[in-house]
Amino acid sequence: MILIDGKKAATELRQELKQEVMQLKTQHNKVPGLTVILIGDMAPSQIYVKNKEKAAKEVGLKSEIIKFPDTIEENIVLKKIEELNEDVSVSGILVQLPLPKHIDKQKVIETISPLKDVDGFHPMNVGNLSSGYESSVPCTPLGCYLMIKKIEPNLSGKKAVIVGRSNLNGKPMAQLLLKENCTVTVTHSKTKDLKTECLEADIIVAAVGIPELVKGDWVKKDAIVIDVGINKTENGLVGDVAFDEVSKVAKALTPVPGGVGPMTIACLLKNTIDCFKRSQK
Ligand code: NAP
Repeated sequence: MILIDGKKAATELRQELKQEVMQLKTQHNKVPGLTVILIGDMAPSQIYVKNKEKAAKEVGLKSEIIKFPDTIEENIVLKKIEELNEDVSVSGILVQLPLPKHIDKQKVIETISPLKDVDGFHPMNVGNLSSGYESSVPCTPLGCYLMIKKIEPNLSGKKAVIVGRSNLNGKPMAQLLLKENCTVTVTHSKTKDLKTECLEADIIVAAVGIPELVKGDWVKKDAIVIDVGINKTENGLVGDVAFDEVSKVAKALTPVPGGVGPMTIACLLKNTIDCFKRSQK
């Protein structure tokens, strides 16, 4: 069984991106810039944002964090985003979620220019992805996709089962695999017989949030299994896949932690650089 090492894949991707940033600097005499807006002082969000800033600086991007208290009025946040949309030194804008209740998440997402939308959440990017056009793609499914492609470069005709249909993970994941000519089934909480669906799959991507939902006897021999889930349990962090059981049947499997997580941040950097490149065209 191939243990898909997300840390190694992310380190390799970051090295490639670092080279690319150096080339872009030579070509354009400037580097891509990522601006993250952080509202409130929730501990996990603060950690994510710090990690993103560190990673951005490591590959040579210009990186900035704008902090607002959780009492900030929505219109001030929207105005700041509009300013950043106009700022040519900013290639990518990310507003760290979740937001305080009084701020409308969708309004925030739609105010970010689709050309600077490094999360790939803007309806224009969602539409472009589903139409098969160039777009920003949400970072976590993009990371999963790149890991799957490394294991199996030709995905044409493969049967993929996505467990979970969130806008963040399941739906964009399905679009990426559809574009690769996979036959894709998207499952969710109302799916009648999840085990039977999974047993058909050459590729399973689990993004649910239920510890060890996908069992060993749900997985076909030699399937590729990607575990997006991060669940805190008494035994520490576990994924949505029963790792010990599934590792006995799968061809390749991502661990939790150390699988999908590290690739998510690397893909944010990739999206920032891609936004910069599109803006220079
Ligand atoms: P989400 O928005 O809560 O969506 C969960 C999806 O799972 C929903 O579509 C839901 O179906 C489906 N579901 C729930 N119970 C199910 C069941 N018994 N059988 C089949 N499907 C079921 O979750 P998310 O934001 O996609 O996150 C999923 C997991 O990934 C979480 O553990 C999260 O922490 C993790 N995550 C990891 C990363 C990373 O970087 N590694 C990034 C983001 C998220 P319905 O639509 O019918 O409700």
